[in-house]
Amino acid sequence: MTEYMLFPGWFAFIVGACIGSFLNVCIYRIPENRSIISPGSFCPHCRNSIPFHLNIPILGYLLLKGRCKFCNHSISIRYPLIEALTGIFAVLLVLRFGITPVAFFWFVFISVLITISFIDADHQIIPDRISIPGIFIFASSFYFLPEMTFLESLAGILAGGGLLYAVAAFYYLLRKQEGMGGGDIKLLAMIGAATGIKGILFTVFTGSMLGTFAGIATIFYTKRSDTKLKIPFGPFLSAGAVLYVFFGEELIRWYMRLIGR
Ligand SMILES: [Zn+2]
Repeated sequence: MTEYMLFPGWFAFIVGACIGSFLNVCIYRIPENRSIISPGSFCPHCRNSIPFHLNIPILGYLLLKGRCKFCNHSISIRYPLIEALTGIFAVLLVLRFGITPVAFFWFVFISVLITISFIDADHQIIPDRISIPGIFIFASSFYFLPEMTFLESLAGILAGGGLLYAVAAFYYLLRKQEGMGGGDIKLLAMIGAATGIKGILFTVFTGSMLGTFAGIATIFYTKRSDTKLKIPFGPFLSAGAVLYVFFGEELIRWYMRLIGR
């Protein structure tokens, strides 16, 4: 790697980690319907506000050795991990797409997916406050991505909303219980706005596979086989969508060759 490549990488990581710090605030506050702007960061245990120099992503956590400066209560390792994860995605996007509008668009998209995934994992909900504005925001994909058109985006929204709605309705008929929440449907409509029909098919296919593996693993480890075991679907759909961003085109081409088309 040349020095030229090194600079944008670090730059992307620092910007990404700072955005990750903001995502932590969103993950923690949006489900509680609280403002994500004010007040600033504070310890959830003793409510003391965190001074600016200790609020630096990742470094702040290391300086504090994972404990609140005031009450010594331990700080969840998840905060620096989400900061690092967001930073790493920023680096991967810059390496893949350069510092371009394409990388910018996908970074916003992945940041929203990270937020949704952790909220869904914590509370088994996908807030409308994120997914519905997300549908409109990511319908701008044609403006950033050379291969997208507004019609393709619209088709993706309908396919995402419609496809999953059909699956959910079928499941309901079959089992008389809701398998997939309305939150997943709106999330998929949002993913469709960004990735179009191809992206939706890829995301549903990949996300369902990942979700099924995780379900089997959970049943295996917890030795519970009751069918109502709640596994949030949002993180798996999100993972499918992220895989599409990086490898979608290649994987679809590979699959087409495989089936001889
Ligand atoms: Zn504290």
